[in-house]
Amino acid sequence: MADKENKVAENVSGAYYVDEQCIACEVCVNEAPDNFKMSDDGAYAFVFKQPESDEEKEACQAALASCPVDAIGDDG
Ligand code: SF4
Repeated sequence: MADKENKVAENVSGAYYVDEQCIACEVCVNEAPDNFKMSDDGAYAFVFKQPESDEEKEACQAALASCPVDAIGDDG
């Protein structure tokens, strides 16, 4: 389960975030490219935009469900 006390710094504020458990598999970026992207060095992902449309919310929920290490939270 993601820990909102250990968010990576680049996340924009809001419900969704990536925490420091991220292993940079890029699954979330593929599931929700309008909301997640990789850091400049590719070492982890972060949320650059909170979901706005229903479509983006579904994509972010799919990203959360697909993360292999449970590094995505929606309670930020
Ligand atoms: S799916 Fe999870 S582990 Fe993979 S890049 Fe996204 S946050 Fe990191």
